[in-house]
Amino acid sequence: MKRFYPDHLSVVSNEASWKDFRVLDVDGKRGQGVLVLRDYSQGSVLFRMNGTLKTEMTLHSLQMAPGLHLDDPYFAGKVLHSCEPNSWLDVETRIYFATRDIEAGELLTMDYDETEDVLFRAFNCCCGSPSCRGTIGGRLMKEAAAQRRRRKTPVVVTASKLPAQVYAAVMAERQNYGAAELATASAM
Ligand SMILES: [Zn+2]
Repeated sequence: MKRFYPDHLSVVSNEASWKDFRVLDVDGKRGQGVLVLRDYSQGSVLFRMNGTLKTEMTLHSLQMAPGLHLDDPYFAGKVLHSCEPNSWLDVETRIYFATRDIEAGELLTMDYDETEDVLFRAFNCCCGSPSCRGTIGGRLMKEAAAQRRRRKTPVVVTASKLPAQVYAAVMAERQNYGAAELATASAM
């Protein structure tokens, strides 16, 4: 089956499929993006990220832990930013979940402020959402900006802050993931 990833990356479960997504040129300003080809309900598993683990961040990497970055320039790295995104990445399972119902024909978006402590390259956002934060530079910048606004609510979206349906899906997948990892470990 046709993949978004080169052959040297082994297939992961729930890998993004050509049935469900396309990478396309959106416009000159935003470059490439990911188009959703079918409807997803809130809390659905969209796909599991693949890629290469690196000790340094790249333009397309997502921080898994301090000093550990998953680089995916092939697919997940193409997901565009929005301050009100329709997907959320659980770094524990590397699964992208739908944060709300998504219709076929929408562009997939995520919050880049959640992907790294400090982004490889900060940028000015013009996503047009009412809650647009303007400058996007990573978790630390997001926290600093929120502190300046004296917001009391935590700004990093931990799983427990997600809509209940999404949270339940995240927890279920974490359990599956843990079980699968254990099975792999005991088979070795
Ligand atoms: Zn924005």
